[in-house]
Amino acid sequence: MSDAALAVRGLTVHFRVRRGLVGSRVVRAVDGVDLALGPGETLGVAGESGSGKSTIARSLVHLTRPNGGTITLGETDVTSLRGAALRRYRRRMQMVYQDPYDSLDPRMTVRDAIGEALAVRGLSRDRRPGEVARLLSRVNLPDALAARYPGQLSGGQRQRVSIARALAVEPDVIICDEAVAALDVSIRAQVLNLLKDIQRDTGVAYLFISHDLSTLRFVADRVAIMYVGRVVEHGPSLELFAEPLHPYTRALIAAVPSVTARGTKRLHLAGEPPDPANPPTGCPFHPRCPEAIDECRRVRPELTVVGPGRSVACHVAVRSFRSPRSAAEPSR
Ligand code: SF4
Repeated sequence: MSDAALAVRGLTVHFRVRRGLVGSRVVRAVDGVDLALGPGETLGVAGESGSGKSTIARSLVHLTRPNGGTITLGETDVTSLRGAALRRYRRRMQMVYQDPYDSLDPRMTVRDAIGEALAVRGLSRDRRPGEVARLLSRVNLPDALAARYPGQLSGGQRQRVSIARALAVEPDVIICDEAVAALDVSIRAQVLNLLKDIQRDTGVAYLFISHDLSTLRFVADRVAIMYVGRVVEHGPSLELFAEPLHPYTRALIAAVPSVTARGTKRLHLAGEPPDPANPPTGCPFHPRCPEAIDECRRVRPELTVVGPGRSVACHVAVRSFRSPRSAAEPSR
């Protein structure tokens, strides 16, 4: 696998949806997102339903066409690829979905499903059975399962086959979109450990999209927290979970007792995320934020670097990092 790294700059995805018989409105599903992913690294992306995290995944594999921004894999700008170039790119960027049936045809045996991906890689027909066996072994499944159909497998086995199929084309990046969300807790831990082992052996990078922070704390090197189409906090996983800066991040973490940082002020996350077609003025989190000040209702906070690898989009959090004189200014 190559040294390619994924870089997303200013990614914007707006949908126009109909309202009534004649009107329409614009949903800002993703609104100027920057992300970077190095080889062999795992970036976690978290947020509530509707935060835009799955739209980012769909944009990266060209299932949704962005309105703006750039996507670069290695040296290649892949934002507007078409035809053969797009097919080559898709090989390098694989998806593992929550529901394995999104990537596995129920009418194809495991052997054929993985073999199809090996054909895309250009492997000759006579070498495919051996490679199918190697890939099944890589995901800790016996070769005897190769003759089965997805419906004859357990949920955990199906997800391992999805991973084997993704690996078959030797990708640079695997996007795991809620990939373990439907699995039992014990199976989930096994699959997460498997993904880590594969990364250590191959150097593949993961973009790990999950609403489950305990999963991200386990697998992610860095985490980006999204709210209504924007990144509101980003940082190394250890630091972000130990000292969350954004009130939304703190509320998400507080909702998962197993990842609550010691000494972190527990916040109850009340209310629902706003309509992305009609977000509040200022900080879109302000109607739910127990720390909101007047400025929050008027001025949208930009994502601001506050330390090595750490950034946050919050007026109050950023002030706490400024000089003592700035920090002492009245804020309410
Ligand atoms: Fe809360 Fe204001 Fe920070 Fe938004 S900017 S998260 S409303 S304190």
